[in-house]
Amino acid sequence: MADATVPTPARLASRLHGLGTTIFAEMSALALETESVNLGQGFPDVDGPREIVEVAVSAMRNGRNQYAPGMGVPELRTAIADHQKRFYGLSVDPTREVLVTTGATEAVAAALLALVDPGDEVLALEPYYDSYVACIAMAGGVRVPLTLRPPDFRLDVDALRAAVTDRTRLMLVNTPHNPTGTVLTDDELRAVAQVAVEHDLVVVTDEVYEHLTFDGLAHRPLATYPGMWERTATISSAGKTFSLTGWKVGWVTGPEDLVRTVMMAKQFMTYTSGAPLQPAIAAALAMGDDFYAGVSAALQDKRDRLCAGLSDLGLEVFVPQGTYFVTTDIRPLGYDDGLSFCYDLPRRCGVVAIPHEVFYDDKEAGRPLVRWAFCKRHEVLDEAVARLSTLAGHGPD
Ligand code: PMP
Ligand code: GLN
Repeated sequence: MADATVPTPARLASRLHGLGTTIFAEMSALALETESVNLGQGFPDVDGPREIVEVAVSAMRNGRNQYAPGMGVPELRTAIADHQKRFYGLSVDPTREVLVTTGATEAVAAALLALVDPGDEVLALEPYYDSYVACIAMAGGVRVPLTLRPPDFRLDVDALRAAVTDRTRLMLVNTPHNPTGTVLTDDELRAVAQVAVEHDLVVVTDEVYEHLTFDGLAHRPLATYPGMWERTATISSAGKTFSLTGWKVGWVTGPEDLVRTVMMAKQFMTYTSGAPLQPAIAAALAMGDDFYAGVSAALQDKRDRLCAGLSDLGLEVFVPQGTYFVTTDIRPLGYDDGLSFCYDLPRRCGVVAIPHEVFYDDKEAGRPLVRWAFCKRHEVLDEAVARLSTLAGHGPD
């Protein structure tokens, strides 16, 4: 998480030491500077539906520019509740069981700050999405990794059981999982639910890639499992599903007491989130089944295209079941370290990717792995592969 090249500011509070600069900002800056094809930070290169943008524009033109209610505008809360019913059969009360946030990022931060006391242990899937590490640290918690290992990146259920102690407070579960692309199976989710119920844990789930699953695989929220609704804060966001990552509209659903708990922190972080964007996301969530099916079908094509290209270059490719990222082992290209590979790549061939290592406590486990984003136009993916092909057969300089 720490980037050794960035000095720690002298006055930085100790609980933020070692976090460095987010790898996504760093790599996107490097991509701009070197005019590289950016397969690093995960954002699509085509905007979401025009008609949704128009709803936001008209909300701005029609006076929806002052603070939204702290919990979110009523039509968005209703649309979120309807979405949970439509896709997962969950009955959610839009007045008490939905909280709109500034992206999933704020929802995760608020949940951790509101639920974790200093010294509490937080179980999380490793590789960790980077903001988890920072937010657990800001809450004073102690992260405990549940490491997903190649080639399948499955959850080790025995390791999960062994990781629970009397200080475990919370489990943070990201599925579909960034960066590995793992979608937890029914058996894995059942095991997580059993452990949570047995040890009376609170569970926070990050489901921002809920609609980005492939090969007919369906995402199923942990909140649908027996005994889980009452202990789960379910987080998602509009960014990925609707290709509107810059809008930062996210949400939490769950039982009233948990949603209120998260709200206790959120109200003092941002108070309320982007008013005119909320009615637009309400309209987006209500789009037809063909829209949702189209999102995953289009991405699956992109996944297949990039995976084939990377595999043809000789990389070991771990085909993802969801998200818009693919992981590879870069050792066939003569490197054994993804960090140096990713720092060399822009200069050597004009492509940016993300080293897994920054997402691990167990640096060895992540060392040879590199993440590539495929939420890009086909010609961009092809250009990246063409540039990378100049590397094949040549190790580090
Ligand atoms: N969680 C995961 C797993 C992510 O990959 C991301 C990044 N998009 C986020 C949360 C942040 O979501 P948002 O942009 O809605 O804050
Ligand atoms: N979630 C995006 C990714 O994993 C990045 C978002 C960010 O820059 N924080 O690439």
